[in-house]
Amino acid sequence: MTKDQLLTRLSSTAAAVLTRRRALLAGAAAVGAAGTAGVLAAVTGEKPVGPALPAAGAPAHRALKSSAYRLQPLTGYGPPHATRRKTLVRHEPLLKVSGRGRTMVLTFDDGPDPRYTPHILDTLAEYDVRAMFFVCGEMAVDNQDLLARMSDEGHVVGNHTWSHPLLTRLTRSRIRSEMERTCDVIEDAYGERPEWFRAPYGAWNRAAFQLGAELGMEPLAWTVDTLDWTTPGTRRIVGTVEHGAAPGVVVLSHDAGGDRSQSVRALRDYLPQLIDSGYHITVPRRQYV
Ligand SMILES: [Zn+2]
Repeated sequence: MTKDQLLTRLSSTAAAVLTRRRALLAGAAAVGAAGTAGVLAAVTGEKPVGPALPAAGAPAHRALKSSAYRLQPLTGYGPPHATRRKTLVRHEPLLKVSGRGRTMVLTFDDGPDPRYTPHILDTLAEYDVRAMFFVCGEMAVDNQDLLARMSDEGHVVGNHTWSHPLLTRLTRSRIRSEMERTCDVIEDAYGERPEWFRAPYGAWNRAAFQLGAELGMEPLAWTVDTLDWTTPGTRRIVGTVEHGAAPGVVVLSHDAGGDRSQSVRALRDYLPQLIDSGYHITVPRRQYV
């Protein structure tokens, strides 16, 4: 390791410690507001995406479509999931992310829905911001163009099961099928297998953690629930996000599953406000050891 590398590593470690401390102080209200079971956890080893992230149109992780891999000579490397490293089995989902400074993550569940998702993507593009979409397989299969657009624009697509069931009521083999089919459709349309999953209704069980890890995915929950699915009004959604804003916070919203026009309008309002307040809206990065 060179001296520069060592210094970089030391300074980022110090920053991470500071960030966590600030997150604990500033994020306490937000965590309370989430109202979900689970512990405060950080995505360890994750690096903030900062200014190194290129502008929309040239995303850092732009994926080759799976069809492109099939055109590669078979003597070369296989598709990325073939070389994927082991994912540890967790006992609870991650609720927050770590990162330098005022980092926040926006997540949109249950889609994609052609009525709402394109508007959300438009707003994210307008502010040059990347977000996470936890898609359901049955929605993704009919809207593969939207997954391709998410890939092109640098967003992260996670697995939210095929049909949005309560996993705690399913057999292990049904849970596996719900997750696996969704991984497959994501790979086809987005170009990469998902690295993250989220249980519908935030209802996790041991099988979900084990099968998710087997499929190479980390469980990510959320810190702040906008409750947008209750259609509380655009202003209420904006208020929930702004009240809950703190370093490391993961915000839950929905781009499908009902009338999501309030969610679409709210994003147009809170996103520029978060940016003006100095928040860096980004996506977490997995680090394999
Ligand atoms: Zn959901």
